[in-house]
Amino acid sequence: MRSFTRFSLTVLLLLGADFFGVTPCSNAAPQTAASAPQAQPPATTTEPAQPAATQTGATQQVTETAAIPTEPRALYETLNALRPDGARVYTVKDLTLRRDVVSITFTEGKLAFLEPLGGRITGAVFSGRGHVIATPHERGERRSLAQFIGVPILDQPFSDAYIRFSDDTAAELQHQLAQDGVEPVNDPDFTAHWIPLAAGLAPTHSLRTMMDWLAAEPIPYFYILLQTGAVGPVEVSVDYRREEQVNIGQPRFTDGVRSYDMWASFRAENAPAVNTEAFVPLDYRVDSRIAEDLSLQGKTTLHLRAGRAGERVVAVELSRQLTVDEIQGEGGQPLPYFQNEELSRRDAARRGNDFILAVLPEGQPAGADFHLQVSYHGSVITDAGNGAYFVGERGAWYAHIGGEHFTPFDLTFHWPKRLTLVATGIESEAREDAETKSARWRSETPFPTSGFNLSQYQMASTAGQPKIQVYANKELEEAIIDRLQLAPPNSVPPASALEHFKDAAHLSGAADQLPAPSPTSALKQLGANVQDSIHFFDNVNGAFPLDHLDVAQIPGSFGQGWPGLVYLSTLAFLPPETQERAGLNEWAQSEARDLMPFHEVAHQWWGNLTGAASYRDVWIEEAMANYLALWYADSKKPGQHRLTNWLEHYRAELTNKIPGTDHSIEDVGPLVLGSRLGSLKVPDAYGILIYGKGTWVIHMLREMLRDPNGKDPDARFRDLLRTVLAEHSFRPLSTADFQHAVEQHMTPAMDLEGTHRMDWFFDQWVRGTDLPRYTVKFEVKPRGNAFIVSGKLEQLGTEDEFTAAVPLYAVRVAGKPERLGVVVTTGTETRFHFESRIRPTRIVIDPNLTLLWNKG
Ligand SMILES: [Zn+2]
Repeated sequence: MRSFTRFSLTVLLLLGADFFGVTPCSNAAPQTAASAPQAQPPATTTEPAQPAATQTGATQQVTETAAIPTEPRALYETLNALRPDGARVYTVKDLTLRRDVVSITFTEGKLAFLEPLGGRITGAVFSGRGHVIATPHERGERRSLAQFIGVPILDQPFSDAYIRFSDDTAAELQHQLAQDGVEPVNDPDFTAHWIPLAAGLAPTHSLRTMMDWLAAEPIPYFYILLQTGAVGPVEVSVDYRREEQVNIGQPRFTDGVRSYDMWASFRAENAPAVNTEAFVPLDYRVDSRIAEDLSLQGKTTLHLRAGRAGERVVAVELSRQLTVDEIQGEGGQPLPYFQNEELSRRDAARRGNDFILAVLPEGQPAGADFHLQVSYHGSVITDAGNGAYFVGERGAWYAHIGGEHFTPFDLTFHWPKRLTLVATGIESEAREDAETKSARWRSETPFPTSGFNLSQYQMASTAGQPKIQVYANKELEEAIIDRLQLAPPNSVPPASALEHFKDAAHLSGAADQLPAPSPTSALKQLGANVQDSIHFFDNVNGAFPLDHLDVAQIPGSFGQGWPGLVYLSTLAFLPPETQERAGLNEWAQSEARDLMPFHEVAHQWWGNLTGAASYRDVWIEEAMANYLALWYADSKKPGQHRLTNWLEHYRAELTNKIPGTDHSIEDVGPLVLGSRLGSLKVPDAYGILIYGKGTWVIHMLREMLRDPNGKDPDARFRDLLRTVLAEHSFRPLSTADFQHAVEQHMTPAMDLEGTHRMDWFFDQWVRGTDLPRYTVKFEVKPRGNAFIVSGKLEQLGTEDEFTAAVPLYAVRVAGKPERLGVVVTTGTETRFHFESRIRPTRIVIDPNLTLLWNKG
């Protein structure tokens, strides 16, 4: 319900290689060596020392290779033109390479290096027999591997390998070849079939290599694409520019759609504790001109600080729908840049934005700040029909640095006068001429992102604090009208039908009297509800961080919470009768009505006041927003048990079997897989886990922190939330930060391991995938006026060390369940003895929903 594009895996995207055998696209067509400019003098200032081993076997070729161009475009094209060297083909036996937990053996076959450039070798190709083995240490990553290939380790023979690197792989291989006394031979037949393939695969690696070659202190990478028999092409990379250096995955091409399966991603054993970002944004100034045809012409000025000294390549994210016209550096000089050079190898399922690489004239000292100005044009606004528009590119409509950064934003828009524009920040300097309106929006606090939308809106505002302005379309978008079956699908509804709706809305007056599909009729009420929810959340989270909130209708069926600006699906603006006529089932109606608006409001704290440190931490803000929305909805109508109903609904979804398997949806992967859960080929796994299980995790924490006898039973839970938000205002929050805060608020009863830590809870519920099942067996013996209830609680479906505090209640034929006590489970069977005032005929496990377990 919120954009995850900000959690793209940054430089990973630069490494998306193609399949073996896929024809390269035209813009990655092989350049001939002759066409690439090579006349530049070598860039001796950026050239690192030669690897020692090149002195042994490759001295001759070092002296013969072309010089390294200094101009970035020429360097890129020269790198693209490097081909496997058919004049020096090695017959290899039992060569080995080890990178972190990945072990690669070239058992038997032929190997050729790419032609060197400036004495440096950047790749090799191999055909023959080989074997790869990789065993991730983390259980969650092994489980992820198993989801894709059936076993928790990568252990595969391969026939072909394409290898690229900026580390000392060439020296390592040459050293082994020299030791074995292998001399290269002329074998152009071997390299002939590799040449078109290498050409198609090169551009991504040329860019990545360039990053290192232009940097004062290169941060190397290793990459290998393997053709295996059983599981198809496999990519393994170890890139020290990434937060998670080791990646194992597979590009896929299904039904004409490119996607990417990330099988495993984790930190290398020798990774630095902290990865310093190359460039950090300090603030953004964005000027956007929207034409009558909704095309956008924009200019983003990025104020940046160099995090690492001597880096020259700045990676900027911008939608591929926008074409860069120019990038200017400090002082206005045009900079060389690369936009979508490897577009055909980009994949939608990674949810990454598109990248531009701009090359600075020289490296900056660490801490230096400077400006980049990116100008672009294109189309990011979609017409949903009937005057409803939608900015489809979310965070990628302006040029920005990827990752979670809180910065000031200064936005200026110029747009057609017939439309109303809403944007994040405080509006000022509004003016209009004959055809165009303009205004400026400045963030009042640092924002993690900025957004806007525009449509033919009507607006209603609410009195009181904070000021709520609700914007809704004058007409319904076509999709909703289609769903109402007033028009054949995909056709424009007759004007008379729309007129009828408008009249009905005017006549009905109140939102829920008659079907009144004009969403504007619900504006006032929705504004009042949103304001009321803010007052509720103030009490839980601490004060609302802004003094106003705009709520804008968007086409489609989801919502999104930008800072000070909430997008809500049209469905949330419709009265229940209309929702029903639009084909929403009971849960979808409740979601649109009870959940979505307040979920997005809660993101004003969880997501916009603090954000996720990485894709692994997104579950916190989503689960928290969802839980708080349910808590609020529940508080409005306690008799309807909305919280309990939703928890049971989520439990049922989590325990559903994955079609065609014996595993439950809960088993798919841990919450810390974040967006990767979406690529696991299990329908809805991402939503069911992040929202459903995430909501349960927050609920279990609240239940454990609860003091039923306290004046405010939730005082500890509220204090936890306020503390986390106060300590992480305007900066990212990690799962480890969150766990630490829970540990500072934990009660003695939560200390199941006696370590004053909550590892047991986070390992099981956040980093793990166990979902226990329980059965109880007991016997009763009278003792005095009471009864001794003893027996055993069986725990199934979990690892042996799984532990939980399971409340048991005694029930007799008539009367309420009486609490016997809590059993802290250890292993598959835990014995218990309780004294009870009543003689139970039955024991009920956790009737008050304090624990997620599989009842099925
Ligand atoms: Zn959300």
